[in-house]
Amino acid sequence: MLSRKMIALFAIPVFFLFLNCGESARQATPGKRLFGKLQNGKEVYMYTLKNKNGMSAEITNYGAIVVSLFAPDKNGKMADVILGYDSLKSYERGGAYFGAIVGRYGNRIGKGKFTLEGKEYQLTINDGENHLHGGKIGFSKKLWTTDSFDEHSLKMTLDSPDGDQGYPGEVKLTVTYTLNDNNELEIHYSATTNKPTILNPTNHCYFNLTGNPENTILNQELMINADKYTPIDNEFITTGEIADVAGTPMDFRTPTPVGKRINDDFVQLKNGKGYDHNWVLRDYNGKVREAATVYDPSSGRELEVLTDQPGIQFYSGNFLNGMDVGKGGIHYQHRTGMCLETQHFPDSPNKKNFPSVELKPGQTFNSTTIYKFTTK
Ligand code: BGC
Repeated sequence: MLSRKMIALFAIPVFFLFLNCGESARQATPGKRLFGKLQNGKEVYMYTLKNKNGMSAEITNYGAIVVSLFAPDKNGKMADVILGYDSLKSYERGGAYFGAIVGRYGNRIGKGKFTLEGKEYQLTINDGENHLHGGKIGFSKKLWTTDSFDEHSLKMTLDSPDGDQGYPGEVKLTVTYTLNDNNELEIHYSATTNKPTILNPTNHCYFNLTGNPENTILNQELMINADKYTPIDNEFITTGEIADVAGTPMDFRTPTPVGKRINDDFVQLKNGKGYDHNWVLRDYNGKVREAATVYDPSSGRELEVLTDQPGIQFYSGNFLNGMDVGKGGIHYQHRTGMCLETQHFPDSPNKKNFPSVELKPGQTFNSTTIYKFTTK
């Protein structure tokens, strides 16, 4: 005869097995899994995109964050080429914007103030006295709605209410990530508003093409398709000037190792604590064109960045200081990842000579950025 204790010992694991079946039945979509629960109890998912060459990308609907991106080296060996965290909790806590879509306004707005159609707006302040990457609870800290998902593509929408972080108008932003068989991760943005507002979303992946974030990015060779850049003051706010790169350490018109001039005695490198600037891309005419390339001689990986945006922020990971514990328990040290953020120029709402970032009711904001991987 089975004792009550034995029945209980048998029944408890069977009960949990059933619970688990329920869980997996709910997540039956291939390539979709539960990433975790937010502090408010809401479930967050992780989606895996793949292509026929074996590349893959994991993306979560928290912050529309690209969590991992596996790309081949010259021998076909795959490695994760972006920085990030293992757990949702770390993304909720973290302040580095790893892999996220940032907005409404990617980059800085001086003092978080701007005037639109005669009215002054005050945004939340989260970077010294300034507004950075959409403010205290920007798009990178919000739960997005998944509209559609298949093996190659993930479409998510964020509904940002009127007054969110101080911005006027309700904005609906849809981001579609597509991983195609040309080894391109394409990001398409589409947005509308119900009142005049400003918008400048971008992606904040930190790349390290060596595939090992214990290496710095200093040997990686960068090319930026720009003759000019926008200098900053010592609070990282653009001065309004549009300066020539010629004859300065900001000249990346031909591929140059990131570390070659990064410590030069040049005021802009002092202000930025390294590279943390926006370059004025050539040929801004609404069409997607080459913005930048990065080549890692050790692995043979090359990243090409294409965009229809007027600018690109090259940030050399100067604020990484070993405090962030990333995937696999690696402490991300100084300059072990670089961002190439396609965008409008920083603080554009306060700089009349910069292209406009206004979005009006009835208009649709559309933009495309492509991160393409090759080897040589
Ligand atoms: C900015 C840096 C900032 C970083 C935050 C970058 O886009 O240019 O100044 O510290 O984001 O992770």
